Amino acid sequence: AKERIFNFAAGPATLPESVLLKAQTELYNYHGSGMSIMEMSHRGKEFDGVIKKAESDLRRLLNISDDYAVLFLQGGATTQFAAIPLNLCAPEDVTDYIVTGSWGDKAFKEAKKYSKANLLWSGKSDKYTTIPSFDGLQQSPNAKYLHICANETIHGVEFKSYPTPSNADAVLVADMSSNFCSKPVDVSKFGLIYAGAQKNVGPSGVTIVIVRKDLLGNAQPTTPVMLDLKIHADNASLYNTPPCFTIYICGLVFADLLEQGGLAEVEKKNMKKAGLLYDAIDESNGFYVCPVEKSVRSLMNVPFTLQKSDLEKKFIEEASKEGMVQLKGHRSVGGVRASIYNAMPLAGVEKLVAFMKDFQARHP
Ligand code: PMP
Repeated sequence: AKERIFNFAAGPATLPESVLLKAQTELYNYHGSGMSIMEMSHRGKEFDGVIKKAESDLRRLLNISDDYAVLFLQGGATTQFAAIPLNLCAPEDVTDYIVTGSWGDKAFKEAKKYSKANLLWSGKSDKYTTIPSFDGLQQSPNAKYLHICANETIHGVEFKSYPTPSNADAVLVADMSSNFCSKPVDVSKFGLIYAGAQKNVGPSGVTIVIVRKDLLGNAQPTTPVMLDLKIHADNASLYNTPPCFTIYICGLVFADLLEQGGLAEVEKKNMKKAGLLYDAIDESNGFYVCPVEKSVRSLMNVPFTLQKSDLEKKFIEEASKEGMVQLKGHRSVGGVRASIYNAMPLAGVEKLVAFMKDFQARHP
């Protein structure tokens, strides 16, 4: 539709048009109930159907086994930065963190309050443009878990394979906020995966946690009840009032992803879109520069700068006038960032690439 523009925001981010339109038709009177889903009890039969279907569709998408609980929580991924050590270790336990960007760094700093968090590796001195080789890492022999941020939203650095904890009793924990459901993931390799919804799967307000059930039940005694994952697992995410409307929209997104053929198909589309954009940058003779090492470039968040940095403001303004918005890089790094989540159509990336070429031609 003409009134929709291409929204390259990092999150909250663009949602599939079909999902918005479906939500619109159901908003005023949900399935003939005479109410919207926002106005219903979270313990009523309509919402029960919504949350159960959202969970089962997500389980199908990621092939999640019954060994794992799937939780719909509040507080954002930021709350999980604390909840993870509180649930998975005692204050005196060691935890390992690989920090490949600002989000991993925030997770690490929070974990220091609730565990003996060890900075196993940091990419800060390289301005977070790379991911280490796993062989060279000296993991703590007694670590309870190894934490990674699977996709750094600000720096555009994405793990393409995953490290294995060297301690046989440790588990891998991943923040997948910005690449959740963008490609198939072998969930069985992880003890815990968490993701804020507001990039790839819904509006802000819900954080999805996928956790191996046998890890639950050992939370530190001071853990607030709202951060105790076992409480939420035992109550099927209904210990208190959940963000009903957000969960409903996530459910529509999951159904849409299944309809597209699942995450292998979604990944193909994402690779095509990201490939177009990175090629445009790399073939610009240095007019546009992406600082991230090629092998770990994100399929979701594409940060780049203009060699003539004084043109960046103009680039962003002109793109916006042409209906491509929210291209400004994160305030901590500047430059340009195009977030091209699942719901960004190929046409949006094609339009951006055409604009980039034209802009370059006009600024020799
Ligand atoms: N982790 C990553 C990778 C993120 O991109 C973000 C948000 N941009 C967060 C954590 C924090 O999420 P929230 O704002 O939902 O707490």
